Amino acid sequence: MRVPLAVPNLDGREAEYLQECIRSTFVSTAGPFVSRFEEQIAELSGTERASVTCSGTVALQMALEGLGVGSGELVMVPSLTFIATPNSVRHSGADVWLVDCTADDWTIDLGLAREAIESETEPHPDGRLHRPTGKVLRAIMPVMIMGASLDFDGVVSLAAEYGLKTVVDAAAAIGATGAGGRPLGATGVDAVCYSFNGNKTVTSGGGGAVASLDSDLVGRINHLVTTGRLGPAYDHDVVAYNFRMTNVEAAIGVAQIERLPAFLRRKREVYDRYGEVAARHPHLSGFPTPTVGTSVHWFSGLVYTGPDDALSERFRSFMVERGVDLRPFWKPIHLQLPYRDAIATPMPVTEQLWDRIFPLPCSTGITDDELDYVVAHATEFWDRHDGSSDD
Ligand SMILES: *Cc1c(COP(=O)(O)O)cnc(C)c1O
Repeated sequence: MRVPLAVPNLDGREAEYLQECIRSTFVSTAGPFVSRFEEQIAELSGTERASVTCSGTVALQMALEGLGVGSGELVMVPSLTFIATPNSVRHSGADVWLVDCTADDWTIDLGLAREAIESETEPHPDGRLHRPTGKVLRAIMPVMIMGASLDFDGVVSLAAEYGLKTVVDAAAAIGATGAGGRPLGATGVDAVCYSFNGNKTVTSGGGGAVASLDSDLVGRINHLVTTGRLGPAYDHDVVAYNFRMTNVEAAIGVAQIERLPAFLRRKREVYDRYGEVAARHPHLSGFPTPTVGTSVHWFSGLVYTGPDDALSERFRSFMVERGVDLRPFWKPIHLQLPYRDAIATPMPVTEQLWDRIFPLPCSTGITDDELDYVVAHATEFWDRHDGSSDD
């Protein structure tokens, strides 16, 4: 049996809506599905408006640029993330300040961020002046890792204290909520950015979106992604981009959102199954559950917490030999070539953690047989290597 990590689930009205694009000739960057997708995203985010883009990376970049962040400035980003997060900062012209994560929920360590700000910056009209580089810290970009909520109140109060903008990388977190069930756009942050890449729970083939309670910001972003055009005549007021999503992509996205509740139910079941495997073994745990708000469990799997570093690679080989698509997890950003010289806090938690994270197959279309197969082999390996008393 071969079990992939995460593949799109396209059994809804995707094909029907794609036919509609072709019949109507609306296959490009305008069309009814674009508006409908934006409305669905805004509704799920608790905002008036959302603007779709051609990728999640671009959504993050546009949120920063829409907030006026750019050259000569800094954005705080966790090191435990996919490289798109810091890339979006660099694309905006700004630079990253990498921060370690917490051991509890794997999100940016706000206490450490505060310490770093206190010791290396001083007040500045636009944020905080980073004394060693002369750059101005303008924003913080927390990541909703695995689609899990984070301490939004903590982020918002830190940002308010130091005059920073807040852009959330919610790439795989559509449908998650903050404290008290608040939708992500209503958590007090400036902007929430999603990705609809093929491995996310909701895909549009490729794509992204920015949602914000600040409708003017969404308007500015919409202007930036549509070549900065002022009206039907070819008047443009800014050097902008062609970063729009097409109606074809949005058609897939609309069909996907219609099935979001079922997708999230299946993700939860998968998460629970891997949690059961973890519970059998003293040195395994599942992926963290957020202390506030909810997770959509985009990825779930196992984490090894024991003493034998060599077991990570052995577990991966064991599963791959049995057809399970188990890959290394994201290599942290401070270890990546383009970011080796970036400003960074010490990284003890990220360095200890990242190679011990095992994302296991979690497609929303995964069958019970496939899930049983993955669970059986994972259990077999850890029974043999982690001192379980079960056999
Ligand atoms: C997928 C992802 C992105 C990037 O989205 P793309 O649509 O692939 O550009 C950014 N951040 C995180 C955490 C992601 O998982």
